[in-house]
Amino acid sequence: MEPVIVRNSILTHEHVLVDFIGADQASPSRYNADEVFAAARPKLEAARKYGCRRLLECTPAFLGRDPRLLVRLQEATGVELWTNTGLYAAANHKFLPAFAKTESPLALAKRWIAEWRNGVDGVKPRFIKIGVNNAPLHELDRKVVEAGAIASLETGLTIACHTSGGGPAAEATMEILAARKVPLHKYVWVHAQNEKSNQYFETAARAGAWVSFDGLSEKSDERHWQAYFWMLNAGLLQRMLLSHDSGWYRVGEPGGGRFNGYTYVYEKFLPRVPAEFRELLMVTNPVKAFGD
Ligand SMILES: [Zn+2]
Repeated sequence: MEPVIVRNSILTHEHVLVDFIGADQASPSRYNADEVFAAARPKLEAARKYGCRRLLECTPAFLGRDPRLLVRLQEATGVELWTNTGLYAAANHKFLPAFAKTESPLALAKRWIAEWRNGVDGVKPRFIKIGVNNAPLHELDRKVVEAGAIASLETGLTIACHTSGGGPAAEATMEILAARKVPLHKYVWVHAQNEKSNQYFETAARAGAWVSFDGLSEKSDERHWQAYFWMLNAGLLQRMLLSHDSGWYRVGEPGGGRFNGYTYVYEKFLPRVPAEFRELLMVTNPVKAFGD
């Protein structure tokens, strides 16, 4: 199979840098930005060759979000890098700063709206990234979803929500959003491929949500292929997103550890997909989901 070029394609869930140390210790002083730059640059250039024009960098604050570094990489590679606002409650709240535990949803949302208005290190976040654990959702999980709802209604930004708990957690998230009158086309169910029961995809997609099969790699190829085919047969490809959840420079590992690239989709997955659906999955849907 020959790799395919998809002009103006968008990778909706990737990472340049992640630091898993925890919210209380995460800091740019824990890594050398030049070293991360050097590691990420060739990976972005490789994706650019296949037509990638934009990559949504999904690393939240307190996990290594570094908009300044993203701007440098964008200027060097020609791949637009979008950063985010929000907070990640998954991993049992290890990445929530102390203020998130005491403040109200509205107070958190005000912080995110302010980031959107004023920028983070001079860069405007282009989407909201949050994360939740298993259903039934913990009070702190519910809080970040509520905050996401308030911020989305104010800013128009789409909410991409990491979902550790599969379909039931996605449903619980959608219930909160719906109660807040957030249109579900502003919600992206991240890591849908981890849900075994395809029926949840249908429920979410028919409700208008985006079903994101990220985490595409050689290892997950079969699951992704099944999911793609299932969505195709259900007539739901127009609600599907596809990405690698790949990268990244691992803070704390020598040289950043193994930095996986962003090209599998072009080299191995899309060559099996008809051209019209390549365009739908990699250009049309990402723009509809997140704006342009
Ligand atoms: Zn991710």
